[in-house]
Amino acid sequence: SDLPEQDSAKEFYSRYEPRNVLGKGVSSTVRRVVEKKTSKEYAVKIIDISGEKGDGMAVEQLKRDTIREVNILRMCHGHPNIIELHDYFETPTFIFLVFELCRKGELFDYLTQVVSLSEKRTRFFMRQLLECVNYLHKRNIVHRDLKPENILLDDDLNIKVSDFGFATVIKPEEELTELCGTPGYLAPEVLSVSMYEDAPGYGLAVDMWACGVIMYTLLCGSPPFWHRKQMMMLRSIMQGNYTFSSPEWDDISDAPKDLIRHLLVVSPKDRYTAEQALNHPFFKREVEKAKTFY
Ligand code: ADP
Ligand code: MG
Repeated sequence: SDLPEQDSAKEFYSRYEPRNVLGKGVSSTVRRVVEKKTSKEYAVKIIDISGEKGDGMAVEQLKRDTIREVNILRMCHGHPNIIELHDYFETPTFIFLVFELCRKGELFDYLTQVVSLSEKRTRFFMRQLLECVNYLHKRNIVHRDLKPENILLDDDLNIKVSDFGFATVIKPEEELTELCGTPGYLAPEVLSVSMYEDAPGYGLAVDMWACGVIMYTLLCGSPPFWHRKQMMMLRSIMQGNYTFSSPEWDDISDAPKDLIRHLLVVSPKDRYTAEQALNHPFFKREVEKAKTFY
C-alpha cells in the first residue's frame, strides 16, 4: 500500500540531482539540488519522519508541523521577501520541500562577516523584514522564530524570510501558550506563559519583539540580551533590561535607537506593530537626505 508513496522519493530523485549540504537541523537537512529538466538550482529541505530519531508521538507532531509549514508557505506565495516553495514530495520516511535557492545564505553569516551594519544597510534589511511581517500579520500568521539564521539573502541581498516551522495562523482574540522559538529572541510574554500559571497567552506581537532584537544586533554586532547563564538572560528579557552600550552605540543616531525602544517594549500591547514601525522616522530619512542633497 505504501508503494505509490515510495515512488514519490524516486520521482524526487528522477527530477532533482542532489548536491552539497547547505544546513542541518534536528530532523532536517537542507541541500542544494539541480532540477534536471531546467538545470535550475533549488534548495531542498529533507525532513526525516522515519521515527528512527524519536518516538511515534514526536513523528506525528513533526508531520503535523510540516503540513502546517507547507500550508502557511502556500498562503504566502508570491511575496518578494518570503521564501518561495517550488515543489513538495512526501514518502513514509521523508518529506521533501523544494525552495528557491538563496545563494548568499543566512543574514547571520553576512553579519558575522561584516560584524555590524551601517544605518543605511540596517534600514534596507529592516524595511524588507517589517514589510514581510506586516504582510504575515495582516493574514493573522505569526512566524515565532524570526532571527538572522532564518533570514536568507538572494543574489541582490534582498531578504527572504524562511523556516516557517513554528509559524501558525492565529484566530482573532486567540492567545497562544506554546513555548517555542529561540531563547535570545523570545518575547517576555512567551516566557511569562511558561513561568506563571495565570499569565495570559501571546500573539502576533512576539514577532515585533524579535524584530527589535534583530535590529539591535544588526546595528552593533551583539545581541541586546545576553548572559553566560541562560537564566540571567531570560530574567533580563522579562524585565526588558538592555542598554545602548558604549562604545558600539556612540556613533549611531537617535532614530534607530528610538525605533528599537518602541520594539523592545515588555508589554505587548504597547509595542509597535509592523505598520507603526514602518511609519517611524527611521524609514523616512532616505527621502529627506535626498531632498537636501539636490
Ligand atoms: P530548521 O527548521 O532545521 O532550522 P531551516 O529551514 O531554517 O530549517 O533551514 C536550515 C538552514 O539551511 C538555514 O538556516 C539555511 O542556512 C539553510 N537553508 C534553508 N533554506 C535555504 C534556501 N532556500 N537557500 C539556501 N539555504 C537554505
Ligand atoms: Mg532554522
